[in-house]
Amino acid sequence: MAGSTNFPGLEKVKHIVLVLSGKGGVGKSSVSVQLAVALKELGNKVGILDLDLCGPSIPRMLGVEKSKIHQASSGWVPVYITPDRNFSVMSIGFLLPDKNSSVVWRGPKKSAMIKQFLTDVYWGDLDYLIIDTPPGTSDEHLSVVENLQALKLDGAILVTTPQAVSLVDVRKELNFCHEVKLPVLGLVENMSGYVCTNCKECTNIFSSGGGKKLAEEFKLNFFGSVPIDPSLVEQLDISATGCDEFERYSKFIQQYKSSALYEI
Ligand code: ADP
Repeated sequence: MAGSTNFPGLEKVKHIVLVLSGKGGVGKSSVSVQLAVALKELGNKVGILDLDLCGPSIPRMLGVEKSKIHQASSGWVPVYITPDRNFSVMSIGFLLPDKNSSVVWRGPKKSAMIKQFLTDVYWGDLDYLIIDTPPGTSDEHLSVVENLQALKLDGAILVTTPQAVSLVDVRKELNFCHEVKLPVLGLVENMSGYVCTNCKECTNIFSSGGGKKLAEEFKLNFFGSVPIDPSLVEQLDISATGCDEFERYSKFIQQYKSSALYEI
Protein backbone atom coordinates (compact mmCIF):
# COMPACT_ATOMS: atom_id res chain seq x y z
CA MET A 1 0.00 0.00 0.00
CA ALA A 2 1.44 3.35 -1.01
CA GLY A 3 1.45 5.76 1.93
CA SER A 4 3.47 8.70 3.14
CA THR A 5 2.65 12.02 4.72
CA ASN A 6 4.77 13.73 2.01
CA PHE A 7 2.31 12.51 -0.59
CA PRO A 8 -1.16 12.73 0.96
CA GLY A 9 -2.85 12.47 -2.44
CA LEU A 10 -1.24 9.06 -3.00
CA GLU A 11 -2.04 7.61 0.40
CA LYS A 12 -4.95 5.54 -0.83
CA VAL A 13 -3.20 4.32 -3.98
CA LYS A 14 -2.39 0.61 -3.73
CA HIS A 15 -0.05 0.10 -6.69
CA ILE A 16 2.09 2.51 -8.69
CA VAL A 17 3.53 1.41 -12.03
CA LEU A 18 5.83 3.40 -14.35
CA VAL A 19 5.68 2.88 -18.10
CA LEU A 20 9.06 3.44 -19.73
CA SER A 21 10.46 3.33 -23.25
CA GLY A 22 13.92 3.86 -24.59
CA LYS A 23 12.78 6.39 -27.18
CA GLY A 24 9.73 8.33 -28.32
CA GLY A 25 7.14 7.09 -30.77
CA VAL A 26 7.24 3.41 -29.81
CA GLY A 27 3.73 3.59 -28.35
CA LYS A 28 4.47 4.12 -24.65
CA SER A 29 1.46 6.39 -24.14
CA SER A 30 -0.91 4.18 -26.11
CA VAL A 31 0.26 1.13 -24.16
CA SER A 32 -0.25 3.10 -20.90
CA VAL A 33 -3.83 3.86 -21.96
CA GLN A 34 -4.52 0.27 -23.03
CA LEU A 35 -3.07 -1.06 -19.79
CA ALA A 36 -5.19 1.34 -17.73
CA VAL A 37 -8.36 0.46 -19.66
CA ALA A 38 -7.64 -3.28 -19.28
CA LEU A 39 -7.13 -2.90 -15.52
CA LYS A 40 -10.36 -0.92 -15.23
CA GLU A 41 -12.16 -3.62 -17.22
CA LEU A 42 -10.96 -6.12 -14.64
CA GLY A 43 -12.83 -4.14 -11.98
CA ASN A 44 -10.03 -1.92 -10.66
CA LYS A 45 -10.05 1.78 -9.86
CA VAL A 46 -7.37 3.22 -12.11
CA GLY A 47 -5.63 6.56 -12.63
CA ILE A 48 -3.15 7.66 -15.29
CA LEU A 49 -0.58 10.33 -14.56
CA ASP A 50 0.92 11.76 -17.75
CA LEU A 51 4.38 13.05 -16.89
CA ASP A 52 5.56 13.42 -20.47
CA LEU A 53 6.15 17.15 -19.94
CA CYS A 54 7.28 17.85 -23.50
CA GLY A 55 4.64 15.81 -25.33
CA PRO A 56 1.63 15.11 -23.13
CA SER A 57 -0.60 13.00 -25.39
CA ILE A 58 -2.80 11.12 -22.91
CA PRO A 59 -5.57 13.78 -22.72
CA ARG A 60 -5.90 13.68 -26.53
CA MET A 61 -5.94 9.89 -26.56
CA LEU A 62 -8.71 9.89 -23.98
CA GLY A 63 -10.69 12.69 -25.65
CA VAL A 64 -10.40 15.09 -22.69
CA GLU A 65 -7.81 17.54 -23.95
CA LYS A 66 -10.09 20.53 -23.33
CA SER A 67 -10.61 19.65 -19.67
CA LYS A 68 -9.26 21.93 -16.98
CA ILE A 69 -7.81 21.01 -13.62
CA HIS A 70 -9.90 21.92 -10.58
CA GLN A 71 -8.47 22.72 -7.20
CA ALA A 72 -10.14 21.30 -4.09
CA SER A 73 -9.05 21.67 -0.47
CA SER A 74 -7.42 18.22 -0.68
CA GLY A 75 -5.46 19.09 -3.86
CA TRP A 76 -5.82 19.08 -7.64
CA VAL A 77 -8.72 16.93 -8.73
CA PRO A 78 -7.93 14.62 -11.67
CA VAL A 79 -10.24 14.49 -14.69
CA TYR A 80 -12.71 11.62 -14.50
CA ILE A 81 -13.17 9.66 -17.73
CA THR A 82 -16.03 7.34 -16.81
CA PRO A 83 -19.25 8.23 -14.96
CA ASP A 84 -18.43 5.81 -12.11
CA ARG A 85 -15.30 7.96 -11.43
CA ASN A 86 -13.13 4.85 -11.36
CA PHE A 87 -10.96 5.96 -14.26
CA SER A 88 -9.16 9.27 -13.91
CA VAL A 89 -6.33 11.16 -15.55
CA MET A 90 -3.99 14.00 -14.74
CA SER A 91 -1.61 15.56 -17.24
CA ILE A 92 0.58 18.58 -17.73
CA GLY A 93 -1.48 18.98 -20.92
CA PHE A 94 -4.38 20.30 -18.81
CA LEU A 95 -2.23 23.23 -17.72
CA LEU A 96 -1.21 24.30 -21.23
CA PRO A 97 -3.29 27.15 -22.71
CA ASP A 98 -3.98 25.28 -25.96
CA LYS A 99 -3.00 22.04 -27.65
CA ASN A 100 -0.46 23.73 -29.90
CA SER A 101 1.42 25.25 -26.97
CA SER A 102 4.80 23.86 -26.18
CA VAL A 103 6.78 24.44 -23.06
CA VAL A 104 10.52 24.52 -22.83
CA TRP A 105 11.37 23.23 -19.38
CA ARG A 106 14.70 23.67 -17.71
CA GLY A 107 15.93 20.78 -15.55
CA PRO A 108 15.12 22.17 -12.07
CA LYS A 109 11.71 23.39 -13.26
CA LYS A 110 10.93 19.93 -14.63
CA SER A 111 11.83 18.32 -11.32
CA ALA A 112 9.73 20.87 -9.42
CA MET A 113 6.74 20.30 -11.71
CA ILE A 114 7.01 16.53 -11.34
CA LYS A 115 7.19 16.86 -7.57
CA GLN A 116 4.12 19.10 -7.65
CA PHE A 117 2.19 16.51 -9.69
CA LEU A 118 3.17 13.81 -7.23
CA THR A 119 2.30 15.84 -4.12
CA ASP A 120 -0.64 17.99 -5.17
CA VAL A 121 -2.97 15.64 -7.05
CA TYR A 122 -5.57 14.02 -4.85
CA TRP A 123 -6.23 10.59 -6.44
CA GLY A 124 -8.48 9.19 -3.75
CA ASP A 125 -8.94 5.41 -3.60
CA LEU A 126 -7.05 3.76 -6.48
CA ASP A 127 -6.00 0.19 -7.13
CA TYR A 128 -3.51 1.25 -9.79
CA LEU A 129 -1.81 4.47 -10.76
CA ILE A 130 -0.13 4.16 -14.16
CA ILE A 131 2.56 6.79 -14.72
CA ASP A 132 3.40 7.58 -18.35
CA THR A 133 6.94 8.97 -18.36
CA PRO A 134 8.92 10.83 -21.05
CA PRO A 135 11.01 8.69 -23.43
CA GLY A 136 14.52 7.66 -22.37
CA THR A 137 15.95 7.90 -18.92
CA SER A 138 16.40 11.44 -17.73
CA ASP A 139 16.16 13.70 -14.71
CA GLU A 140 12.38 13.33 -14.83
CA HIS A 141 12.63 9.58 -14.29
CA LEU A 142 15.11 10.07 -11.50
CA SER A 143 12.79 12.62 -9.86
CA VAL A 144 9.85 10.22 -9.99
CA VAL A 145 11.84 7.29 -8.62
CA GLU A 146 13.56 9.36 -5.92
CA ASN A 147 10.29 10.88 -4.77
CA LEU A 148 8.28 7.69 -4.84
CA GLN A 149 10.82 5.17 -3.65
CA ALA A 150 9.69 5.75 -0.06
CA LEU A 151 6.21 4.76 -1.17
CA LYS A 152 5.36 1.45 -2.68
CA LEU A 153 6.51 1.94 -6.24
CA ASP A 154 5.75 -1.47 -7.70
CA GLY A 155 8.05 -1.19 -10.68
CA ALA A 156 8.27 -0.47 -14.38
CA ILE A 157 6.77 -1.86 -17.56
CA LEU A 158 9.04 -1.42 -20.57
CA VAL A 159 7.65 -0.81 -24.05
CA THR A 160 9.68 -1.59 -27.13
CA THR A 161 9.22 -2.16 -30.85
CA PRO A 162 10.80 -5.07 -32.73
CA GLN A 163 13.46 -2.97 -34.47
CA ALA A 164 16.94 -3.53 -33.10
CA VAL A 165 17.55 0.15 -32.31
CA SER A 166 14.62 0.19 -29.95
CA LEU A 167 15.85 -2.98 -28.30
CA VAL A 168 19.24 -1.37 -27.70
CA ASP A 169 17.38 1.43 -25.94
CA VAL A 170 15.56 -1.09 -23.77
CA ARG A 171 18.88 -2.39 -22.55
CA LYS A 172 19.68 1.14 -21.38
CA GLU A 173 16.32 1.28 -19.60
CA LEU A 174 17.12 -2.00 -17.91
CA ASN A 175 20.45 -0.63 -16.70
CA PHE A 176 18.66 2.45 -15.36
CA CYS A 177 16.13 0.33 -13.48
CA HIS A 178 18.93 -1.77 -12.08
CA GLU A 179 20.88 1.30 -10.92
CA VAL A 180 17.92 2.93 -9.19
CA LYS A 181 16.68 -0.45 -7.83
CA LEU A 182 13.38 -0.23 -9.66
CA PRO A 183 11.90 -3.67 -10.29
CA VAL A 184 11.06 -4.41 -13.93
CA LEU A 185 7.58 -5.93 -14.01
CA GLY A 186 7.74 -6.94 -17.66
CA LEU A 187 8.04 -5.99 -21.30
CA VAL A 188 5.50 -5.23 -24.03
CA GLU A 189 6.41 -5.39 -27.72
CA ASN A 190 4.37 -2.80 -29.59
CA MET A 191 4.03 -2.43 -33.38
CA SER A 192 4.83 -6.09 -33.72
CA GLY A 193 3.59 -6.94 -37.23
CA TYR A 194 0.82 -5.28 -39.21
CA VAL A 195 -2.86 -6.23 -39.10
CA CYS A 196 -4.51 -6.00 -42.56
CA THR A 197 -7.70 -3.94 -42.33
CA ASN A 198 -9.46 -6.25 -44.81
CA CYS A 199 -8.46 -9.80 -43.93
CA LYS A 200 -7.22 -9.09 -40.36
CA GLU A 201 -4.15 -11.20 -41.03
CA CYS A 202 -1.03 -10.09 -39.14
CA THR A 203 2.15 -9.70 -41.29
CA ASN A 204 5.60 -9.24 -39.77
CA ILE A 205 6.96 -6.25 -41.65
CA PHE A 206 9.90 -5.83 -39.29
CA SER A 207 11.59 -8.79 -37.70
CA SER A 208 9.42 -9.78 -34.79
CA GLY A 209 10.02 -11.67 -31.59
CA GLY A 210 12.92 -9.40 -30.53
CA GLY A 211 11.02 -8.32 -27.43
CA LYS A 212 10.36 -11.90 -26.43
CA LYS A 213 14.00 -12.85 -26.95
CA LEU A 214 15.14 -9.84 -24.93
CA ALA A 215 12.72 -10.78 -22.16
CA GLU A 216 14.13 -14.33 -22.13
CA GLU A 217 17.71 -13.08 -22.16
CA PHE A 218 17.13 -10.79 -19.16
CA LYS A 219 14.67 -13.13 -17.43
CA LEU A 220 11.83 -10.60 -17.65
CA ASN A 221 8.11 -11.28 -17.90
CA PHE A 222 6.97 -10.94 -21.49
CA PHE A 223 3.50 -9.43 -21.35
CA GLY A 224 2.74 -9.83 -25.05
CA SER A 225 2.75 -8.11 -28.42
CA VAL A 226 0.47 -5.48 -29.89
CA PRO A 227 0.47 -5.32 -33.71
CA ILE A 228 0.41 -2.14 -35.80
CA ASP A 229 -3.31 -1.71 -36.18
CA PRO A 230 -4.82 1.17 -38.17
CA SER A 231 -7.96 0.89 -36.07
CA LEU A 232 -5.94 1.92 -32.99
CA VAL A 233 -4.78 5.07 -34.79
CA GLU A 234 -8.44 5.77 -35.57
CA GLN A 235 -9.31 5.48 -31.89
CA LEU A 236 -6.58 7.95 -31.05
CA ASP A 237 -7.64 10.45 -33.70
CA ILE A 238 -11.41 10.46 -33.31
CA SER A 239 -12.38 13.26 -30.99
CA ALA A 240 -15.06 12.15 -28.59
CA THR A 241 -16.00 12.61 -24.97
CA GLY A 242 -13.80 10.76 -22.50
CA CYS A 243 -16.51 8.22 -21.82
CA ASP A 244 -17.01 7.26 -25.51
CA GLU A 245 -13.26 6.98 -25.81
CA PHE A 246 -13.17 4.51 -22.93
CA GLU A 247 -15.78 2.31 -24.63
CA ARG A 248 -13.81 2.28 -27.87
CA TYR A 249 -10.50 1.35 -26.22
CA SER A 250 -12.29 -1.29 -24.29
CA LYS A 251 -13.56 -2.87 -27.53
CA PHE A 252 -10.09 -2.57 -29.05
CA ILE A 253 -8.51 -4.39 -26.13
CA GLN A 254 -11.20 -7.10 -26.10
CA GLN A 255 -10.33 -7.86 -29.71
CA TYR A 256 -6.75 -8.64 -28.73
CA LYS A 257 -7.71 -10.46 -25.59
CA SER A 258 -9.81 -12.86 -27.61
CA SER A 259 -7.06 -13.48 -30.16
CA ALA A 260 -4.49 -13.85 -27.37
CA LEU A 261 -2.29 -11.20 -28.94
CA TYR A 262 -2.59 -8.90 -25.97
CA GLU A 263 -2.15 -10.64 -22.69
CA ILE A 264 -1.25 -8.16 -20.00
P1 ADP B 1 5.12 7.33 -27.38
O1 ADP B 1 4.34 7.58 -26.14
O2 ADP B 1 6.11 6.20 -27.21
O3 ADP B 1 5.77 8.56 -27.95
P2 ADP B 1 2.57 7.00 -28.69
O4 ADP B 1 1.82 6.07 -27.81
O5 ADP B 1 2.25 8.46 -28.61
O6 ADP B 1 4.13 6.79 -28.51
O7 ADP B 1 2.39 6.47 -30.16
C1 ADP B 1 3.05 7.11 -31.25
C2 ADP B 1 2.13 7.03 -32.46
O8 ADP B 1 2.04 5.67 -32.88
C3 ADP B 1 0.72 7.49 -32.15
O9 ADP B 1 0.29 8.30 -33.21
C4 ADP B 1 -0.09 6.22 -32.09
O10 ADP B 1 -1.34 6.43 -32.69
C5 ADP B 1 0.69 5.25 -32.95
N1 ADP B 1 0.63 3.87 -32.42
C6 ADP B 1 1.09 3.41 -31.25
N2 ADP B 1 0.91 2.07 -31.14
C7 ADP B 1 0.30 1.67 -32.28
C8 ADP B 1 -0.18 0.41 -32.78
N3 ADP B 1 -0.04 -0.72 -32.08
N4 ADP B 1 -0.78 0.40 -34.00
C9 ADP B 1 -0.91 1.52 -34.71
N5 ADP B 1 -0.47 2.73 -34.31
C10 ADP B 1 0.12 2.83 -33.10
